[in-house]
Amino acid sequence: MTSTTALFLTDEHEALRTKIRTYAETEIAPRVAEMEAHRHVDQDLSARIARQGWIGATIDPAYGGMGAGHLAKTLIIEEISRVSGAMGAMVQASQLGTAKIIYYGCDEQRKTWLPRIAAGTCLPTIAVTEADSGSHVLGMQATARRDGDDYILSGRKVYIGNSHIGDLHGVVVRTGPGSRGLSAFLVEADRPGLSLGPHRPAMGLHGFSFGELFLDGCRVPASNMIGAEGEGLDVAYSSSVLYGRPNLAAVALGIHQAIIEQSVAVAERRIRHGQPLAELPTIQQRLGRMQSRLTTARTVLYDAVHKLDLGLPCDDELINAKHTGVEALLATAQDGMRLHGAAGLYPDQPMERFFRDAQHVEPPAGTDDIQLHRLGEKALGRTRGQWSQRHAPPQPTTSKAAPALRPTTPSATS
Ligand SMILES: Cc1cc2nc3c(=O)[nH]c(=O)nc-3n(C[C@H](O)[C@H](O)[C@H](O)COP(=O)(O)OP(=O)(O)OC[C@H]3O[C@@H](n4cnc5c(N)ncnc54)[C@H](O)[C@@H]3O)c2cc1C
Repeated sequence: MTSTTALFLTDEHEALRTKIRTYAETEIAPRVAEMEAHRHVDQDLSARIARQGWIGATIDPAYGGMGAGHLAKTLIIEEISRVSGAMGAMVQASQLGTAKIIYYGCDEQRKTWLPRIAAGTCLPTIAVTEADSGSHVLGMQATARRDGDDYILSGRKVYIGNSHIGDLHGVVVRTGPGSRGLSAFLVEADRPGLSLGPHRPAMGLHGFSFGELFLDGCRVPASNMIGAEGEGLDVAYSSSVLYGRPNLAAVALGIHQAIIEQSVAVAERRIRHGQPLAELPTIQQRLGRMQSRLTTARTVLYDAVHKLDLGLPCDDELINAKHTGVEALLATAQDGMRLHGAAGLYPDQPMERFFRDAQHVEPPAGTDDIQLHRLGEKALGRTRGQWSQRHAPPQPTTSKAAPALRPTTPSATS
């Protein structure tokens, strides 16, 4: 690690990194070829990883979690993603799904679900995106209608991380008009009226699922509402800013690191002009650019999550970490392909997988356009409040009475 990151990392962080790296190289790496070949959702491996307890990185020890904080969570995702972007995405999506319970769950919801999530016996999701809304969260059309002590949910969610292995979906739907007309519900995966679309393998992240949830008159008790009625946008935004952005930046960082390691190995091994590629000044320059981007992305991300751990306002830093990390990864993925030459185009080369996986990191928690839109709002002085301030440090009490805060503008993008 660089001297800059040494400023953030304690001995415990370094020990955690070593532990995760060892696990990833011995337990996950041997499964990658099969995930790539079959493109199935690897439920078994996901469950094994979850049972290590790492989904509970930020869950309070009082609920059985690690209580290790956001920087520790970042290292976990980064190291798993270095070996498998798919399993890194699985871990990030589960931790993202945990955020809403930590921040908005009432005592009973926390006592019921957080210990199971921490133990790895329950994988949560967060389901916001719809086919006709996407970045425009307020454009969603799925609804919940009150019926006695229940709500009846109807609609369709798409691209939901861990859709096919999730045990507890956190579904944001419309309960009324406008920006205070969204509400969030916990929906158990086996609840009647909830069904999944078929798993559709995509370009990359083979082994991970991000698919469709159908809500067809799905009846849930009112006690499954998470947060108060009308707080659904807050649930979605806070999860996305405080967990989604840095988590995706961590996935990007792990893939980025893997590309550089693989590219260096190729540059040292392949002989051109009677010497290894690594001796050519242009190749050294290319590797230098890749390393520069990696160092910047890592420093920006660790700084952001370190501030989150310290309880400092850092929404802009978290958003910038996703922007910086994803842009850096995509540029380095292109450089890695160039360095590999024709061989990089074949699936027997890890580079081909890294390139495909890298494309999946941009849309979740908002495309780069959305990150820049948010940062532009900051530059224009149009942001109000910060999620990192509202939720730092997480308190073990219900937030249902917490004052409403929506730190962004009416554009209501993810
Ligand atoms: C691997 C993966 C995992 C995911 N996991 C989840 C999950 O767990 N839960 C969940 O709810 N969703 C999830 N998503 C969905 C993700 O949040 C959406 O893909 C994202 O919000 C963008 O929506 P969209 O794909 O419909 O793109 P669109 O909103 O249709 O955007 C299309 C293009 O228009 C641009 N654009 C749109 N609006 C604006 C604007 N206001 N300003 C500038 N440009 C704009 C976008 O940047 C993009 O280039 C996941 C997606 C992926 C790929």
